[in-house]
Amino acid sequence: MEMTHDLNKLQEEIDRRELCNSMAPFPIYDTEIINDLKIREEMISRKQNFNNVPVTYCTTCLSLKVKDVVVDHKKVNCCMDCGNTPTAETHIEEWQDLYKERYGEEFLVLPKQEE
Ligand SMILES: [Zn+2]
Repeated sequence: MEMTHDLNKLQEEIDRRELCNSMAPFPIYDTEIINDLKIREEMISRKQNFNNVPVTYCTTCLSLKVKDVVVDHKKVNCCMDCGNTPTAETHIEEWQDLYKERYGEEFLVLPKQEE
């Protein structure tokens, strides 16, 4: 959990510098550097949130190839693989579990680590 640690430290540092700047009659800390820190912070938190991104999947075949289509002037989610419309939303990790349960294998094949 080193990344979480880094993120917390980064947030503290940004808060501290912004607080100092807001209390001083002129910015003590370079605002460009603070912006750089914010960009770094966002990159780290984006990485962390990767697994929290909800995905829409087809409840029939578990495909992630779900697209919006218009049927009778209504927008519905439609599976591009099997053409069915019942879909659900879940987090990528949960979906991977569902996929594994159904098909007996991981969808994302991660490279094996060298020993
Ligand atoms: Zn499907």
